[in-house]
Amino acid sequence: MTLSPAARDVLRAVAATLVADGAGRVPPDLGDRVAQKIATLPRVADRAELDLLLRLLDVAAVNLLLSGIPKPFTRMSPSQRERCLRSWATSAIPQRRKAFQALKRLTTVVHYTTPGVARAIGYPGPLSPPPKTPKPIRPVTITADTTLSCDAVVVGSGAGGGVVAAELTAAGKDVIVLEKGGYRNEADFTHQEGEALATMYDAGGLLATRDLGLVVLQGSTLGGGTVINYTTSFPTPDAVRHEWAQRHALPHFEGAEFTRSLAAVAQRIGVNTDHARPSGRDQVLIRGLERLGWHHGLLPRDVRGCPQDDSCGYCGMGCRHGAKQSTLITYLQDAAARGARIVTNCDVRQVTIAGGVATGVEARVGQHAVTVRARAVIVAAGSVHSPALLLRSGVSLPALGRHLALHPATAVLADMDEEVQPWTGTIQAHYSDQFADLDSGYGFKFETAPLHPSLQALAAPWESAAQHRDRMAKLPRTALIGILLRDRFGGRVTVDRDGGTPVVDYRLSRYDRKHLRRAIAGAAEVLEAAGAREIWLPVARTVTYRPGVGVSARHARDDWLRRVDRAGWGPNELLLVTFHQMASCRMGARARTSVVDAENRVWGIRGLYVADASTFPSASGVNPMLTVMAIAHRAAGMIL
Ligand SMILES: Cc1cc2nc3c(=O)[nH]c(=O)nc-3n(C[C@H](O)[C@H](O)[C@H](O)COP(=O)(O)OP(=O)(O)OC[C@H]3O[C@@H](n4cnc5c(N)ncnc54)[C@H](O)[C@@H]3O)c2cc1C
Repeated sequence: MTLSPAARDVLRAVAATLVADGAGRVPPDLGDRVAQKIATLPRVADRAELDLLLRLLDVAAVNLLLSGIPKPFTRMSPSQRERCLRSWATSAIPQRRKAFQALKRLTTVVHYTTPGVARAIGYPGPLSPPPKTPKPIRPVTITADTTLSCDAVVVGSGAGGGVVAAELTAAGKDVIVLEKGGYRNEADFTHQEGEALATMYDAGGLLATRDLGLVVLQGSTLGGGTVINYTTSFPTPDAVRHEWAQRHALPHFEGAEFTRSLAAVAQRIGVNTDHARPSGRDQVLIRGLERLGWHHGLLPRDVRGCPQDDSCGYCGMGCRHGAKQSTLITYLQDAAARGARIVTNCDVRQVTIAGGVATGVEARVGQHAVTVRARAVIVAAGSVHSPALLLRSGVSLPALGRHLALHPATAVLADMDEEVQPWTGTIQAHYSDQFADLDSGYGFKFETAPLHPSLQALAAPWESAAQHRDRMAKLPRTALIGILLRDRFGGRVTVDRDGGTPVVDYRLSRYDRKHLRRAIAGAAEVLEAAGAREIWLPVARTVTYRPGVGVSARHARDDWLRRVDRAGWGPNELLLVTFHQMASCRMGARARTSVVDAENRVWGIRGLYVADASTFPSASGVNPMLTVMAIAHRAAGMIL
């Protein structure tokens, strides 16, 4: 479904209002490019909702009632249009805030990721053309409806799927890997943000919770999240292993076998702490932490020969140096070299189950149906798509899709005197666990992450085009402290009626919100100690402060926090992003409360396994990749 002509007209006017330059100019095709993005949203319901919303914005009576301006949007003056949109942005009605954020995010991200546009704010874009690296894997070409058979079919090729595929192949099994994303390697890493989001992120980077309260970022390319992730490779913390063993009755998590799996995957992907040269962002983090006397440490990373130079800030769009040891260049190459067949652009729609036994999967590659018959089906499509696939396949376990943990992330940002150039330097190198355990293992980490124009556009509050533009222009001097919260209470994945597309519902609990507030105060303190000029948050209303000195420092921060409280903690008030989705097919000791048993078998269905982040019993509290890989490594042994 594409937008109706009436909705398109309004969208053009909205897009122009959101990003017009000082002279009121916008690229003439911006509205149409945003409309094209809307047409790629995975859910029909979301597209229809936006169409309706845009048409409502052009009804004078609606605007009179909601914004006090008795005109259709397209007939308002520029300042009336800004006033109208502002009233949506900060409305007390959640649906209006949701609608505003949908339009603001789409428009500003499309605009600032257009090649060349961000040059005006000092962002250079890609630093060089990609190298001509050959592609060592030869995926199976599908040109007609096809039936294949094998010992084991693996759905998804990320941290979980890549490891399982390689381990089963190494043991002599005939393995087929089906991956929804395409095969992109160093030669395709253009480092153009818009293109990277569209080609390597799930739903082109547009996935969010149903209420848009959380942006859901996950990889969708051969190698999954491991290709675009930030290389941080923490082992599962002992306290979390203990919790999973004790509270979830899964003793193996504390055993030598799981330790061996952790060591094996860390060795294959070269985890080390020798590549932690601090970026400009990390220097700010370290300076602040040291002045406060708070903990900081080097991040373990899965890199070999990482140059840790300016280009490394673009690693979230793929590492051109082949230094990041993603499954693409490790486990999947191992598997392919030993004969595993890999099918890309292959969307698995269903697991076929007969008489309580999994017999294979049904998938699509473009127009063609692909049927795979297999003795074992291993689902590793990530924590959003694995439960969705099982639900589409008729699996009905009470815990399926529930307990979804997301490590809700946000950031406190600051304008600095120095040129931080927050898109450059080692992608992540340092962290702080000062507040990792505020209560029974729940708390938060501080890390940094590269800030390219798309994230700055998402984060920057919008009160007018001029104010948003001004914030964008400060990008080169912006520093950020990222907050990674270990969430205790989860959300849920279901599927919608049209097409079985996943729908994610998640609300930050009161408990987790308390930790988030503590995190925001702490991050602001770090930035203050590091010499920040002005500190701000990614909230719908602009809430900033200039750090005071001496006794007034505490006062200024406390006053700011009270204003943050007033700006609100609800959906689409504070920007939350999830980079880590977990626990939606959790492992446990009982079919009533979990989806897979201790050997990764889906309860009640023979030959069906799950081996990805969705099997975590709860949030890992650390960046999850290594834990996913260790679980998958052990699962391969069980499956064999
Ligand atoms: C920007 C970003 C940065 C991150 N940084 C870090 C980090 O520094 N350290 C860390 O530990 N973690 C990081 N993560 C998280 C980490 O990458 C994930 O937790 C991990 O990859 C999850 O592994 P998985 O196997 O569950 O899923 P994924 O790695 O996401 O793989 C799932 C794969 O399944 C495919 N798929 C989905 N549905 C289907 C279907 N129906 N048919 C076929 N294929 C399908 C997807 O396309 C995808 O390729 C980051 C994530 C993001 C998005």
